[in-house]
Amino acid sequence: MAQSKEDRAAYMRGYWAANKEVLAAKKHEYYLAHKEEHAARCREYDAAHGAEMRERKRKYAAAHRPEFNAWSREYYATHKEEHAALTRAWKVAHKDELPSRARHYYEQHKEEYAAYGRAYTAMHPEHVASRRLRYRARKRDADNGAVTAQVIAEKIGEYGGICPYCNHLIAEGEMDHVVPLSRGGMHDADNLAWVCAECNRRKSGRSLLRFMLARIGG
Ligand SMILES: [Zn+2]
Repeated sequence: MAQSKEDRAAYMRGYWAANKEVLAAKKHEYYLAHKEEHAARCREYDAAHGAEMRERKRKYAAAHRPEFNAWSREYYATHKEEHAALTRAWKVAHKDELPSRARHYYEQHKEEYAAYGRAYTAMHPEHVASRRLRYRARKRDADNGAVTAQVIAEKIGEYGGICPYCNHLIAEGEMDHVVPLSRGGMHDADNLAWVCAECNRRKSGRSLLRFMLARIGG
């Protein structure tokens, strides 16, 4: 009996639907029996066509990025709870290895982290100084919250790069609390001066007067 293409396709679909479980089990059984072969074939294929495939994939992804993004947003929005639960479960299951993993990752990327930190500090000295100073001020309950990174940036430029304590050009600057926090000084714009690291180190916890007197005395 002559069958049309559609008939055959419909028959196959019916057959697959009716025998889904048996067929899936058979397939899995076959896979298990030929696992090594399969892996070897995959490796071989990857070596021969991997670069080409990845390039194709990359191009395709680039061309369909808006769709992909919309799709992932939609997926994330509709599966948020599920995703959070999965993440929680994964974390619980791997809680012992997580810290060591993080440590391992850090060890492997230490140089990069350090370089990034240095670059960030060089590019945003006001943010870094602002965070550090705030942290110290909060511990002494001396933060009035008014010293923003903007204020710090203004302070850094206040004397045109000259240290107000020694009148030398600042190579490496630090923010000093003129009245030290340890002596009740506030973390306030009026109590801040951008000074050279050397002066800051020498002044340390002393008041400005003591520091200046010591300088005069040699
Ligand atoms: Zn100085």
